[in-house]
Amino acid sequence: MPITPLMPVYPRCGVRPVRGEGVYLIGEKGERYLDFASGIAVNLLGHGHPHLTKAIQDQAATLMHVSNLYGSPQGEALAQRLVDNTFADTVFFTNSGAEAVECAIKTARRFHYANGDTHKTTLITFKNAFHGRTIGTISATDQEKLRSGFDPLLPGFKVVEFDNLEAAEAAVDDTTAGFLVEPIQGEGGIRPASQAFMKGLRRICDEKGLMLVLDEVQCGVGRTGTLFAHEQYGITPDIMAVAKGIGGGFPMGACLATENAAKGMVIGTHGSTYGGNPLAMAAGQAVLDVVLEPGFLEHVRAMGDRLRQALEQMIPNYDDLFDSVRGMGLMLGIKLKSDSRAFVAHLRDHHGLLTVAAGDNVVRILPPLTIDEKDIAECIERLSAGARDYAPAKAA
Ligand code: PMP
Repeated sequence: MPITPLMPVYPRCGVRPVRGEGVYLIGEKGERYLDFASGIAVNLLGHGHPHLTKAIQDQAATLMHVSNLYGSPQGEALAQRLVDNTFADTVFFTNSGAEAVECAIKTARRFHYANGDTHKTTLITFKNAFHGRTIGTISATDQEKLRSGFDPLLPGFKVVEFDNLEAAEAAVDDTTAGFLVEPIQGEGGIRPASQAFMKGLRRICDEKGLMLVLDEVQCGVGRTGTLFAHEQYGITPDIMAVAKGIGGGFPMGACLATENAAKGMVIGTHGSTYGGNPLAMAAGQAVLDVVLEPGFLEHVRAMGDRLRQALEQMIPNYDDLFDSVRGMGLMLGIKLKSDSRAFVAHLRDHHGLLTVAAGDNVVRILPPLTIDEKDIAECIERLSAGARDYAPAKAA
């Protein structure tokens, strides 16, 4: 691959969207794509949502950036709103998911440090997890494709099988700080953890004084039909990383924690030049205005059920290609019987439908949460047409 001005770390594809309109992305030549990828679970409100657009425009004209060295009324207001609606007592704002996870890792270690347990530094993490691309977050996974060539990585992570409570419990020793887990693995192929697993991790943490750290970067902010996915497991974490949907397309993230878990995060322990900047806070407020509107999360659950039923009805018609459907709310995956990347490219290039490939032969379906029944019907139509004229050998 020749070098290009834009560092060539992503494969090239034919789609170059220049504009967005609701659930559609529009390409350079005016071609319209039904966007059931949402920038990988980012554009919660679709493209060009008037409330989000206006909030960012108004804030940009008022105050775009100010250092965290000064007071932040916008940051205080959004943090208060997150605290009011979650398990958390305090929030640190970041610019991305990986940074939110980094802050979560630091908060967990610092909790034990503040208790005088300086040997409790290791987080137990899970196979096929994805937590980001920084040195810290690639150290937290055992995926070779993310890690190779980047040694030396950081110590302090122990990877065990996902959704296996015995393996998780057996991995705990005197150096354990806690668990870092996605309630629903996203990049790993839309795999929801079982109720027993999540409740079991909570129990182990309670018994042993460990930190339960959730990565809800992909599954959080309404995606699964509740504000956060852990609500559907009947548990609360000590610390949680959030990003993607929280800004609806504005780059931002957050680390939320209980007062107890955050006891070590005192003045001078952490920081970020941009994290919590007024523009990001305006975006976050506008997204929450919509997501917390009465009826919105019910809409996500109804559309999630509807889409899932429609997918389940469709897949037996193409049973040499499709295996099964899984997920929660509007975080759905279709498991294929063969590699999903070629099928995702086929849908994109020949049927104007944007989805995302994920590990384990899965096509991820992550539409804006604002979709309606007409959008679902169009998605099923395009998927079915794609399944009918798909020839894997030719496409691959
Ligand atoms: N955690 C999870 C669960 C994710 O899905 C992602 C992004 N795919 C990240 C962390 C990293 O987020 P970002 O790319 O914003 O750093």
